[in-house]
Amino acid sequence: MPKVLLIQSSQYLSTGNVVRQKKLYLPGLVFPLLAAMAPGNWEVEIKLEVIEEISFDTDADIIGIGAMGHAIFRAFDLAGEFRKRGKIVFMGGYMASMVPELALKFVDSIVIGDAEISFPLLLSDFEKHGRLQPVYNNPVGDLNNLPLPRYEMLAEKRIGDMLPVQAGRGCNHTCSFCSIACLYKGRHMARPVDEVIRDIEKIKSLGYHKFYMIDDNIVSNPAYLEELCRRILPMKMKWSSQCTMNLARNESLLKLVARSGCEILSLGLESISQEGLDKLNKKWLRTDDHQKLMAAFNKAGIMISAEMIIGTDGDTTESLQATWDFIRKCKIPLLRIYFLTPVPATRLYLEYKAAGRLIHENFDHYTASECVHYPEQITPENLTLMYHWLNGKIFSLGGIVCRTLLNRQILKHPVNYIFAFAVNLHYRSYVKKGETPLIV
Ligand code: SF4
Repeated sequence: MPKVLLIQSSQYLSTGNVVRQKKLYLPGLVFPLLAAMAPGNWEVEIKLEVIEEISFDTDADIIGIGAMGHAIFRAFDLAGEFRKRGKIVFMGGYMASMVPELALKFVDSIVIGDAEISFPLLLSDFEKHGRLQPVYNNPVGDLNNLPLPRYEMLAEKRIGDMLPVQAGRGCNHTCSFCSIACLYKGRHMARPVDEVIRDIEKIKSLGYHKFYMIDDNIVSNPAYLEELCRRILPMKMKWSSQCTMNLARNESLLKLVARSGCEILSLGLESISQEGLDKLNKKWLRTDDHQKLMAAFNKAGIMISAEMIIGTDGDTTESLQATWDFIRKCKIPLLRIYFLTPVPATRLYLEYKAAGRLIHENFDHYTASECVHYPEQITPENLTLMYHWLNGKIFSLGGIVCRTLLNRQILKHPVNYIFAFAVNLHYRSYVKKGETPLIV
């Protein structure tokens, strides 16, 4: 029986050490889905490097490595070890898809974008010819008839209390810095609601009461989201996901999302500088509305987990000081700050490259925890100082307590805000070591 080993690589800390955790709280969906798509004569093994040792002496015939963001550099090293031992290695994921010419220096084959058509094709090529094509690039036309992911393969590992579900893929926006926009170009595909509900029922049958919807932006199609939430509501599950602030502009939909069990949403708050957002093709996100929309999420009972970027063309030392005032005033319970990063192949990268605004092109430093471009109104050095200053404020003990335990919302949702307090302490442990907080 041929065997494929699928590895989710961890990533390097700035010290060169590999990130390890006791538990993986947000396991990905791709591998259990691919495992369900492999023909019956194939054995599939999954390894998650953050929580499991990778043995290079494996009986697998081919090795597939998936990597998120700059974890790709760890993935390249893993690939090298397997290839030294004569194994065929293929790679997928956003980064490999966006820089295939770079990835092909380290692996035998690349799966660009969607894997649903490419993966069975790749296995068949190996069976027939004993080798793979260098590139598989087969975008799917829709997300209909996907099999039930083999969730048991995740449930047997050291994971948290949630399993992943996907309702849609892609996003209806085209922000210039975004990898999703680069790959899907403003296209959003939704799965049939019945099939999403089937997956959630399976998760429930495995004893889980929570799931994480891994969609890029759940409010890309509001009518679809409404139908989905109506079907999730009677299942009495708790869930989290990611979306834009725009959800809060639709009061009835926001209420329904909350009633269906949504507890936490990750939101791209990005910046308090409208000028900065405008230049990132994100004009539709209005900084004047940030406070009002966050209040709507709070009122609906959904905890905010925000992501912000620094280094936009609107940023100055003063605007970043004002960013801290804003965070403190709004008591954002969960928050991560990143440097704006021109990820290769994105529109932002092409713009900055053409304008001579890239400091260098050592992509292993494009980690979002280093400034790699020249912002318009602040030097990279001062921006870096402000990054550390902001993280110091946000993850000071006082800052954490103020945003979580002293947040008025704790009276309505004590468990969630105590959870946020614990997550902040975890992020603080990274910040104290000079690292960017990691979500794993
Ligand atoms: S809204 Fe979010 S997911 Fe969509 S393109 Fe913009 S940054 Fe990417």
